[in-house]
Amino acid sequence: KGSINPSLDGKTGTFTLEHDVPMYRDEDLKDDEAIVQVDWISVDPAMRGWLNPTRSYIAPVAIGAPMRAGGVGRIVRLPKGAKGDLRVGDWVVGTLNWTQYAKVPVKELQKIQTDQTVSPTLYLGALGMPGQTAYWGLHGVAKIKPGETVVVTGAAGAVGSLACQLAKIHGCRVVAIAGGAAKCAFLREDLGIETVLDYKSATFKKDFRAVGYVDVVFENVGGEILDMILGRLNKNARVALCGAISAYNTSAPSGLQGYLNLISQRAKIEGFVVFDYADRYHIAAKEMAEHIRAGKLKVRETHIHGLDECVNALVGLFEGKNTGKMLVKIGDD
Ligand code: NDP
Repeated sequence: KGSINPSLDGKTGTFTLEHDVPMYRDEDLKDDEAIVQVDWISVDPAMRGWLNPTRSYIAPVAIGAPMRAGGVGRIVRLPKGAKGDLRVGDWVVGTLNWTQYAKVPVKELQKIQTDQTVSPTLYLGALGMPGQTAYWGLHGVAKIKPGETVVVTGAAGAVGSLACQLAKIHGCRVVAIAGGAAKCAFLREDLGIETVLDYKSATFKKDFRAVGYVDVVFENVGGEILDMILGRLNKNARVALCGAISAYNTSAPSGLQGYLNLISQRAKIEGFVVFDYADRYHIAAKEMAEHIRAGKLKVRETHIHGLDECVNALVGLFEGKNTGKMLVKIGDD
């Protein structure tokens, strides 16, 4: 055993490396299990979340269990008389964990086809989970349309770089945000993304404003960057909240942790303006009046006196000086 990660909390080692785990023997294999020699392991930001004992879209990794991870590898053993189309030597993708040899139920393995242009690793990227994420974030959640301005954060990453390209292919104007000159050069020169912004640059905020308003946000980062982007949404904009990496590894309460639930609970960020309901105002007004008359609805007001107090009343709203509706009385009682 040896620590392979000094610490996530600054005190204790989080992982240990176990050597000399007994090789799996044929007779130990259940009828529906295979042994896979792992070739590539996927490392994903989500893993950080899997270490937290909190409610999410997937159970946390149990203490003492191998770290969960997607991987590709080759089947080295199958149970005698195994059914199905898998053979020893086949390339497969699945949840293989951080292990050299993985014992996996056959039904959880997917056979993959590789050739000179399709390497096994693609099944952990564009042809795997990141690719699916980019595609469905754009087409399923955000429902992008040609001509729309689509902002992608974490743009130089696995998901982000695919999302940028898919949006461009669909005829969108793509604004890619990534950290550092090298990543920006990759997006601009290698991927052909025209508008690329470096969020580490001193002029980032100004540069982003110059982009104008945005129709779709493919959000990977969260925190201050998301906050800034939300301030520049066009009417009927859609925010596909894919990830919030800036918050994953912080324990300090930032006031922004709660919105991660939008991801795990598949909730939507969707705005509305009450004016949109103007043709139905009368329905609500009638019902509210009935509730007030019946004593079911209580009303509180905070009264301030004098025209010259209007500014203080307004400022007071941001200082919590009102209870219920803040009102300014103009003129004499
Ligand atoms: P990436 O390849 O994008 O790797 C992470 C990148 O995030 C880093 O390279 C870094 O890029 C950026 N980053 C890290 N910390 C910060 C920070 N504090 N502020 C801004 N950027 C930061 O990872 P993936 O493509 O695998 O995942 C991208 C996002 O998508 C993640 O949030 C992930 O959790 C999410 N995801 C969600 C899925 C879903 O189903 N909802 C599925 C898959 C992924 P830079 O140098 O540019 O800062």
